[in-house]
Amino acid sequence: MRIDLDVSAIPRRWYNILADLPDLPPMKNPETGEPVREVDLEPLFARECVRQEFSRERWVEIPEEVREMYERIGRPTPLYRAERLERYLKTPARIYYKREDVTPTGSHKLNTALAQAYYAAEEGTETLTTETGAGQWGSALSYAGAMTDRRVLVFMVRVSYQQKPYRKYVMRLYGAEVVPSPSELTRVGRRFLEEDPNHPGSLGIAISEAVEAAVTRESTKYALGSVLNHVLLHQTVIGQEVLAQLEEVGEKPDVMIGCVGGGSNFAGFTFPAVGKVLRGEMRGVRFLAAEPEACPSMTGGEYRYDFGDSAKTTPLLKMFTLGSDFVPPPIHAGGLRYHGAAPTVSLLKAKGVVESVAYPQDEVFRAARLFAETEGLIPAPETSHAVKAAIDEALRAKEEGEERVIVFNYSGHGLLDLEGYAQVLGI
Ligand SMILES: *Cc1c(COP(=O)(O)O)cnc(C)c1O
Repeated sequence: MRIDLDVSAIPRRWYNILADLPDLPPMKNPETGEPVREVDLEPLFARECVRQEFSRERWVEIPEEVREMYERIGRPTPLYRAERLERYLKTPARIYYKREDVTPTGSHKLNTALAQAYYAAEEGTETLTTETGAGQWGSALSYAGAMTDRRVLVFMVRVSYQQKPYRKYVMRLYGAEVVPSPSELTRVGRRFLEEDPNHPGSLGIAISEAVEAAVTRESTKYALGSVLNHVLLHQTVIGQEVLAQLEEVGEKPDVMIGCVGGGSNFAGFTFPAVGKVLRGEMRGVRFLAAEPEACPSMTGGEYRYDFGDSAKTTPLLKMFTLGSDFVPPPIHAGGLRYHGAAPTVSLLKAKGVVESVAYPQDEVFRAARLFAETEGLIPAPETSHAVKAAIDEALRAKEEGEERVIVFNYSGHGLLDLEGYAQVLGI
């Protein structure tokens, strides 16, 4: 079963969870310990993104031009019911998944890439820099750069640059410049390369490089793929659509699941529902974040102030973190190799609203294979963590003999991750 919304149902506004989370600890300046102000971030990000970062308004209007680009990428995306998977598992649970893989670059990341590139273009910024792990964010920003006539410079985590060459071709086809990180282009990159000429890189290091390039070059701003409030804000079109789709079939979620790297797809998918829970308009929903055992920021990390990057150049964020020096092992889910998790998602975990679970890589890939065999879709290794968690929840519902509605975010496809499948499953 597939549940579609009309094009006219593309959301007209983004949902800002800060309206319902007034006690979010502020970003801090590491030198002074003072809260970061808008002016501090303006050299780095598009001005409108900075405004949104600090906004407490519950709803932020989506510019018509961005809505048109959302239409172009296939929004509203369909919601599917996983009937063949349910039958295989013999579970009384009903499992639904939101298809964020159907966009041109194959993941949810365009939802914010298009917004950020649009604002940069409006403000006359010529170039956007960024980091990318598995390559999905870099692909998304490259696409957004092409659609808004901006130049894009991508620092790609070296292990992914080597393991996933196809993503780099995608970015280059959209006209972006792509370099492996650590790179020779920045001071930070050269420092890590001195330590280890074969440094595998990490998202934290790549962020440091992209930030340095943005603040040292003319008419250049930085675009971030996850973690901060304005990025998560743009992703909330996902969760608004899901609530409308579930309503269409008369369902109410019992558990909502997403994988967490920096937290953007999880937040975009769950926050509109989390907001309803926080405001007392909905009850009895669990929110479950799925992570890799190799980088279990929320499940194994500490809730404290930490840097967002490895070179300790960003403001301090209060979040669940493994420490900004943590370099995760080179697992195939490159997009989940981040030492922290978004401050809003972290606060919700600290409050007990959000739960988390961590899985080893081989179990995750086996779950992905089962999903391919039953539902016919090959998930991204990141997404496979959510698939695994949904399967476990469905099996638990079976043990407990309960019907339960399980909804997860299918954040992206794995058609450019086949090498990882081959290595882990030996196919
Ligand atoms: C980037 C990515 C993730 C992880 O990033 P979040 O910000 O946590 O969403 C998950 N799934 C896919 C397919 C991705 O591309």
